Amino acid sequence: MTLIDVAASLVNLHSGRDERGRERSQLDAADAPAATAAVLQRGGGRAPRVTAADAAALAEHALQWRTVFDAVRDGDDAGAARVLNRLLLETGARPQLDPHASGGWHMHFHGSDDSLAVGWAAGCTAALALALGSDLAGRMGTCAAERCDVVFVDTSKNGSRRFCSTSCQNRTKTAAYRSRSAG
Ligand SMILES: [Zn+2]
Repeated sequence: MTLIDVAASLVNLHSGRDERGRERSQLDAADAPAATAAVLQRGGGRAPRVTAADAAALAEHALQWRTVFDAVRDGDDAGAARVLNRLLLETGARPQLDPHASGGWHMHFHGSDDSLAVGWAAGCTAALALALGSDLAGRMGTCAAERCDVVFVDTSKNGSRRFCSTSCQNRTKTAAYRSRSAG
């Protein structure tokens, strides 16, 4: 899972009202560290130790990242850029070359300090900024179905994905068919 997928997963974990036609069950504060760690592990391979404070800090960032997805959905790329520029400053995101375990080097982003929450916040913010600043801007998606605000990264070949899942796609098709039949 790439950093931008981690960002989208954290947005879905920590924010939003409806998911696939149903009201989201609230994430219990006691479950937040483990649920956050599970997302980070998919992005980094190692099981990180996430404290309640780390989870709360990343949840705050996730709310900001959702406003970026919202702005892109609404065609307000300038608004998305404003939020990301502010977050880049706040997290102190800076590129750094680090050695690969398997040899060679890779560039990734560190934050103003190497704490877990700041590091991941900087990395995810930088990944969103790199996407917005390239032809990947349209790949930041929000589900187009009724009663669903799940965000996703569109990796389809032509970048035309509209729904978070086939269940949302089918639900929308059925609703469109019903309204046509009724009319
Ligand atoms: Zn959906």
